[in-house]
Amino acid sequence: MDILHVEMSQFFSRVIENAARSEGYGYANVTSIAQAMAALDAGGVDLIITARILEDGNSETMLTSLMQGPHRNVPIIVVTSDDSLENRERFFSLGVMDYLLKSDLVPGKLTQYFSLIGRGGELLDALRNMRVAVLDDSSMSLRVVRSIFHSHGVKQCQYFQESEEMFKAGDFDLYIIDLVMPKRSGEEVLLQVRTMNPRSGIIMVSASSNRVSLAHTLVLGADDYVSKPFDAQDFITRVKGVVRQMVLLQKIEEKGRQMEEMAKRDSLTGLWNHGSIHEYLHGCLEGDEQVAVLLFDLDDFKSINDTFGHQSGDSVLMMTGKSLRDGIGPAGEVGRYGGEEFMAVLPGMDGEGAAEIAEALLEHLRQMPSGLKERQITCSCGVADVRDGRVAPEIVEQADARLYMAKSAGKDQVVDRNHEPSSLASEEG
Ligand SMILES: [Mg+2]
Repeated sequence: MDILHVEMSQFFSRVIENAARSEGYGYANVTSIAQAMAALDAGGVDLIITARILEDGNSETMLTSLMQGPHRNVPIIVVTSDDSLENRERFFSLGVMDYLLKSDLVPGKLTQYFSLIGRGGELLDALRNMRVAVLDDSSMSLRVVRSIFHSHGVKQCQYFQESEEMFKAGDFDLYIIDLVMPKRSGEEVLLQVRTMNPRSGIIMVSASSNRVSLAHTLVLGADDYVSKPFDAQDFITRVKGVVRQMVLLQKIEEKGRQMEEMAKRDSLTGLWNHGSIHEYLHGCLEGDEQVAVLLFDLDDFKSINDTFGHQSGDSVLMMTGKSLRDGIGPAGEVGRYGGEEFMAVLPGMDGEGAAEIAEALLEHLRQMPSGLKERQITCSCGVADVRDGRVAPEIVEQADARLYMAKSAGKDQVVDRNHEPSSLASEEG
């Protein structure tokens, strides 16, 4: 992928160039709208990144003229320091794919961003995997489109001369729609497709004499238009342009979902983190049902770290987390509560049932090969349920108090309400 960066600051230019090149992308820097247009006309630009203020105007001027010209399908990213809603809406109304905040311009973030933006070759592959509908009352036009698609290996296409047949055939990923048809106008069909299937790609086609009406379809929700008669190269380029937008959007959404999921997880063990397991507990406590909370703490973890090193300590944490997660199964959720402490929340379970499960989990840990020389992994556990409190702080405090009792009474054991040591007089250090 080749990036055209329209930017006057040498500093930002270097930052983006480094990130782009580290991903194997091509990079060119220009400082003015005029130079940017010339570079686009020369071809080969897959992505534009632009600053707000340029040598001969601002990015809005450039975006407006880009959208009216032949390069309107090249995705554009604006770099700005202003994260306001107003700004966001304006950029998106100007056809900007995304924007980067100046604070995002750090190598790690940029590299990650670039790595999710696809390379040109995959566009045809993506298109080949899409369901495509072509609607045109002229059988000649259909034949032309069919031959263009066919020569590019795009075979999952259906061709329709009437819109009703097309709607009956179900949903498609990409629609090529003729603007002028005898029964219903292409505009009507476009609106219906856009309403039914907001995520589909739509390309309108018509004679070049209908250019004004064609351009108007962009306002109605079309992603692009092509004039007849088709130039095969131009046609497939436009189609790829729309596919590129769709693919990028999917990737950005997927990345967003991944990041959301990652934010909920502890990076070492992959378990839920403190915040997520707490949120889950809160949710469970909202009902009237039983809920049990189990707090686990690895015994003598500090000495494992000191004796075997932190990498071994980390692997013990991972093994323990996995063992607890697997042991609890669908009965509830497990999170890394902090340090060497884990919390399990078992909805619908009372303390007695939970204590039995905890005993089994501790036994499993004892049997588990630890990977450490002559050293087994053991855990202490405190169990509480809603009889100890119907709000999170109370129930967690009680589980924590019992965990402390388990430690004091010699570790590697479960303490619940029925097995609290009668006296802590024999407390060990
Ligand atoms: Mg027609």
